[in-house]
Amino acid sequence: MNDLRPLRTPAELAEAGLVAPEELAGIEVVAERYAVAISPAMGSLIDRNDPNDPIARQFVPNEGELTITPEERADPIGDLAHSPVEGIVHRYPDRVLLKAVHVCPVYCRFCFRREMVGPQGLGTLSPEAMDKAFAYIADHPEIWEVILTGGDPLVLSPRRLTEIMQRLSAIDHVKIVRFHTRVPVVEPERIDEALIAALKCSGKTAYVALHANHPRELTPDARAACARLVDSGIVMISQSVLLRGVNDDPDTLAALMRAFVENRIKPYYLHHPDLAPGTSHFRLSIEEGRALVAGLRGRISGLCQPTYILDIPGGHGKAVLGPDAIRVSGGCHTVSDFRGGEHVYPPSE
Ligand code: SF4
Repeated sequence: MNDLRPLRTPAELAEAGLVAPEELAGIEVVAERYAVAISPAMGSLIDRNDPNDPIARQFVPNEGELTITPEERADPIGDLAHSPVEGIVHRYPDRVLLKAVHVCPVYCRFCFRREMVGPQGLGTLSPEAMDKAFAYIADHPEIWEVILTGGDPLVLSPRRLTEIMQRLSAIDHVKIVRFHTRVPVVEPERIDEALIAALKCSGKTAYVALHANHPRELTPDARAACARLVDSGIVMISQSVLLRGVNDDPDTLAALMRAFVENRIKPYYLHHPDLAPGTSHFRLSIEEGRALVAGLRGRISGLCQPTYILDIPGGHGKAVLGPDAIRVSGGCHTVSDFRGGEHVYPPSE
């Protein structure tokens, strides 16, 4: 395969040895419906000899995506229900999403915004829409944090990112700017001096939330890109999606969370997979997810524990799904330790 360009069509995937000839017709139908892109870094990471490769599973289209189940929905976490102006999602009082762009360097097959991103998606905000989005943020003094997402905001040029940061820097009540991105992993070469400089501006604290789902994604190049960000003073946190066939086992999850911490990235959210169309082959039950997360307690350092969450369908926000450590009955608390032992609190003696 040509390692220097992204793979964007079924024919390119076949040429790169990622789609078998007999699968090509089905994959072409999937690609007409949902965007396809595999960056050179991810394309070269895929083990062609492993039919269950967890990197391929995240990025190579699959005919399973044509199966839509009744509970799936085009806007699974209800962005549109909370969008007062184009490009803004205001779901919680003190923060907004700013979706400036709906393009990504890779297209994840489980994406919760798969109906919005890609060449046929919502596109990039026009200058007029950007003006309205910034006016909305300026008019709402309760907005303390702006979260740039999309799409992947780090596909924007340093010049565009600088413009965005300069406009946010003029809004006093915004203190935190958070970038949700896959770029440090899937296109690490993009994290250069100019891009890092663009993320920073005086008076605002920049956070980068890295989306990665398997420890192999933290390649030496990705680790170096994250180090450049952290060394510059940017705080990094992680977000991952719990995905069947990618990270649904305790060893993989533990290795992923440890890799984050080793790279100065604080594990933040582990998302239960959303009800995005054509993604049922990725979904676990909540019970399976809770058992996996319970298995991390005690086994790995407290620094490595993510918060397991569900985005409640319809836009009602996030709910923590973590294991219940405490039960209350008859005025008495019973707490469980990480081995499953139960203890009354306060102790009777
Ligand atoms: S990078 Fe994020 S927004 Fe883009 S396809 Fe993947 S999950 Fe969706």
